[in-house]
Amino acid sequence: MSTPLIKLENATRLYRMGDTEVRALDGADLTVQEGEMTAIMGPSGSGKSSMMNILACLDRPTSGRYLLNGEDVSSLSDDRLAEIRNLYVGFVFQSYNLLPRLRAVENVELPMVYGRDTRQRRAAALAALDRVGLAHRANHRPAELSGGEQQRVGIARALVKKPRLILADEPTGNLDSRSSEAIIATLQSLNRDDGITIMLVTHELDVAAAAKRIVAMRDGRVVNDERITQRIVRPVVPASQPLAASPASLPGLRSQVEGAQ
Ligand code: ADP
Ligand code: MG
Repeated sequence: MSTPLIKLENATRLYRMGDTEVRALDGADLTVQEGEMTAIMGPSGSGKSSMMNILACLDRPTSGRYLLNGEDVSSLSDDRLAEIRNLYVGFVFQSYNLLPRLRAVENVELPMVYGRDTRQRRAAALAALDRVGLAHRANHRPAELSGGEQQRVGIARALVKKPRLILADEPTGNLDSRSSEAIIATLQSLNRDDGITIMLVTHELDVAAAAKRIVAMRDGRVVNDERITQRIVRPVVPASQPLAASPASLPGLRSQVEGAQ
């Protein structure tokens, strides 16, 4: 098999809080091939965001290794890590993280401050907005956009440098179910049509079911890893009902997901 895009090996992440130490990751292992679309589930505090931040090269493991496209990035300097992040990764935030005074197109231009002239930047930002169906809102400020539209601007910003990997930490967490569906459809299309590897964190089984694979975390580790083999036509669990991911519940999840024709 070819070199995986992501290989996380026995990763730990300790946070020191005064005298106490929090083990946010405690031996997490994960391998992701280029072109996969993976959902990460798990209870609050199970280490999902800590893992995503490491995968995004926003943070490093305390111990263990992270190989991105075969290169060990676990102990790179901040500058080098930022370069790698620039090259490979787009990140989508739950709360969009748009700058309120900038228009949509200017928000999308932000990751391109270096290395291109103004006209090229503008053209790339407009193309990214068009890709997420938002060209007609290019000159609106975030306050003039719905939550779903703001998140699409967030995806365009993640997309504008043509990353191989898009990481989205609860991208639909602030959205109603209709806007969620549109965001998930956009991520699916980026995966299917543009070949971008996608990882998203979600609490909702119907959102996770849009992925090809569901990884469950608990206590800082990956405790279950399921590939979805059949198309999901209808969610079987209401969107409002979060999945309590545990080793015991996931075999049930698989039969529900696969049975949902
Ligand atoms: P999740 O995203 O699954 O809710 P997190 O990765 O955010 O989990 O958190 C895992 C654990 O690490 C939690 O106990 C959380 O309180 C702790 N934690 C996360 N970030 C920090 C931080 N910056 N400083 C201290 N503790 C943190
Ligand atoms: Mg989190």
